[in-house]
Amino acid sequence: MTELPARRLLLVHAHPDDESINNGATMAKYAAEGVHVTLVTCTLGEEGEVIPPRLAHLAADRDDTLGAYRVGELAAAMRELGVTDHRFLGGPGRYRDSGMMGVAQNERPGCFWRADLDEAAGHLVAVVREVRPQVLVAYDPDGGYGHPDHIQAHRVAMRAAALAADPGFRPDLGPAHAIDRVYWNCVPRSVVEEGFARLRAAGREIPFEGVASADDVPGVVDDADVAVAVDGTAYAGRKAAAMRAHATQIAVDGPFFALSNDLGQPLFSVEHYRLAHGPAPEAHGGRADDLFAGLSADSAVAEEV
Ligand SMILES: [Zn+2]
Repeated sequence: MTELPARRLLLVHAHPDDESINNGATMAKYAAEGVHVTLVTCTLGEEGEVIPPRLAHLAADRDDTLGAYRVGELAAAMRELGVTDHRFLGGPGRYRDSGMMGVAQNERPGCFWRADLDEAAGHLVAVVREVRPQVLVAYDPDGGYGHPDHIQAHRVAMRAAALAADPGFRPDLGPAHAIDRVYWNCVPRSVVEEGFARLRAAGREIPFEGVASADDVPGVVDDADVAVAVDGTAYAGRKAAAMRAHATQIAVDGPFFALSNDLGQPLFSVEHYRLAHGPAPEAHGGRADDLFAGLSADSAVAEEV
């Protein structure tokens, strides 16, 4: 049995790279503050497009070795963020990347989109009952932007949070644990607009083929819907380094980045969260600045695995 730190944060993501883009500054900040940060990634991201030409052979339609390669990218990203507890749902390769919505890979046996919900959630319940987080960060019901693996990651995270708290569900997975607060990733509209204004002002100085639009940013919400803004400015360099570690997927240039479409986007070091479940965080006039605000930290004992 191992004594866990008093504050524990669990994040659930679809593919390697999503965690660094959405929560890299948050993860680095809390890890540096001694919070136990656990990342569960649901697939290896086998269907991703590959940016560097010298690695193009890894892609699913060529060698189909991108998944194993991305395991290494994720490990490198976690070293940049100072996060030591990162796992794949059900073990590496248990669920395969389903590709974008509507492609043939959505029907492939073993892809995450076709996973049995309670079976997939069961893998996550085991993690929840071991780590006993006060806070869970997941996607909104649309997965932020409609990708099947992101939608499924939302469903699995929410189902697991419910099942983990039910003493009648799989007692073999450990004693029941109720997560105090669940957040969904989001970006307030004003922040997106300001970010793109900054990007357009940078004009020709950015090395990307073009500029993305605000519609390309996942999880954009009205400013009033944001519960917490985590100021990760001091960790912006760590976040950028973690994103760079996912070199098959992301090109980073200063405060901007591009995915395989080579369209520039702003890189946010203040990261935002919507409250999906649990007591509203205490805030001093407006948004809270801490995911744990108002929650009582407690010690917990992890099952030895
Ligand atoms: Zn993703």
